[in-house]
Amino acid sequence: MNINDLSLVERALIGGAWVAADSGATFPVVDPATGDALGTVPDMGAVETRRAIEAAEKALPAWRDRPAKERAQIMRRWFESIMAEQERLARIITAEQGKPLFEARAEIAYGASYIDWFADEGRRVYGDIVPGPAMDRRILVLKQAIGVAAAITPWNFPSAMLARKVAAALGAGCTMVVKPAELTPFSALALAELAERAGVPAGVLNVVTALDPAPVGQELTHHPAVRKLTFTGSTEVGKILLRQAADNVQKCSMELGGNAPLIVFEDADLERAVKGAVATKYRNCGQTCISANRFLVQRSVVDAFSRKLAEAASALKVGVGFDESVAVGPMIEAAAVEKVERHISDAVAHGAKVLTGGARHALGGLFFEPTVLADVPADALIFREETFGPVAPVISFETEAEAIRLANATPYGLAAYFYASDVARIFRVAERLEFGMVGVNESIITSEAAPFGGVKQSGLGREGSRYGIDDYLELKYVCLGGM
Ligand code: ADP
Repeated sequence: MNINDLSLVERALIGGAWVAADSGATFPVVDPATGDALGTVPDMGAVETRRAIEAAEKALPAWRDRPAKERAQIMRRWFESIMAEQERLARIITAEQGKPLFEARAEIAYGASYIDWFADEGRRVYGDIVPGPAMDRRILVLKQAIGVAAAITPWNFPSAMLARKVAAALGAGCTMVVKPAELTPFSALALAELAERAGVPAGVLNVVTALDPAPVGQELTHHPAVRKLTFTGSTEVGKILLRQAADNVQKCSMELGGNAPLIVFEDADLERAVKGAVATKYRNCGQTCISANRFLVQRSVVDAFSRKLAEAASALKVGVGFDESVAVGPMIEAAAVEKVERHISDAVAHGAKVLTGGARHALGGLFFEPTVLADVPADALIFREETFGPVAPVISFETEAEAIRLANATPYGLAAYFYASDVARIFRVAERLEFGMVGVNESIITSEAAPFGGVKQSGLGREGSRYGIDDYLELKYVCLGGM
């Protein structure tokens, strides 16, 4: 393979045809590490979106009614072709999103694992026969594909977030229209191309690209054929989409922002806590919704922890993701860098100390230094808002009760992490944290076998695991009378 040949697809996919926008308009996709244009994709709107929904509607009955085993065979071929092209697909992610290659390869394998998983889960959609109150009747519960599903996906995991949604939908027997993030559409189009080659029938998976997401979102939430909306992105946009989906009473799954705490208790294995902190904080340059955003550390170990974290952070090599020795790539866009700068200067104005980093990287562009801040007070902006960047603010606490109160003092509830060794404390704290996912002595917690999702303003629904398919199914109660 020529590693520079990414074979980018510069067309959208509607009803099995690779198409341009009706107007012929396109928009460029840029490499965040260099600012170079990688290629263009169609700039579509409501009309093309409607066409994609109609294609999905037309493809629905045949796909839904096909034996789950046959759907699974097609999905398995798709999974295998993704893994066979892992290197090229990873390079597409690094080119359009910036993350280091080793992370991009892991993302491809991670996303593909959902396709493998839901190929099987689709075969295990069991209904129930329920004991009823009277002998002259029987109660059956059927589980049926909900219908056409729409997905809107983000730029931070341009391949895996799409695979995670499409896998569950297709496994359940739904058809789908996907709108990838305008910053990173090539990963989505590459996956769709492989799906088509693996035998996913025309119209079952459609991809619409657009520079302005709003008209596409309007159509996806208002077209009566769309029975399900799944979104991963900011809480702000999630709320807009929920309001829109209300008009159509669409079933919604929302994977929104987080403000993850990582708590280090004095009985923690400090080395392990530092390793976990680095892994969750600087992966993807801190641009994941489950990145630890607030480091709550018990007073007696706060200095040792902060010093070790700063040492580890300053040793991370920043640079272009294609360089195999690089640990931290560029941020996605200028606004993201500005938000990080704002959070750091606000924290410093509130009395925080910069232990390492704190500024744009000497490489320039969108590169930022891995940063650790000490003595951050709880009223700093960085404590309340999701930073989405490579900044670790350390906040100290005295008691377990205080740590839990600080950790829960956020409208978000996606992921939380804590490091401790006392078993009673581990149970107590895990039960009291108001988050959908809790990592105990572990900060890399995602897996296709586990339910991913948040509580409070972090979202609705779960992705992955045996529960993930439920979001794409309706229950139907059938009453058999006259028995
Ligand atoms: P992020 O903070 O990750 O950039 P966004 O929530 O802005 O998150 O974007 C996530 C996805 O939502 C992207 O695909 C983006 O195009 C889409 N999006 C943003 N605004 C809207 C909107 N008003 N309607 C529909 N989709 C939108």
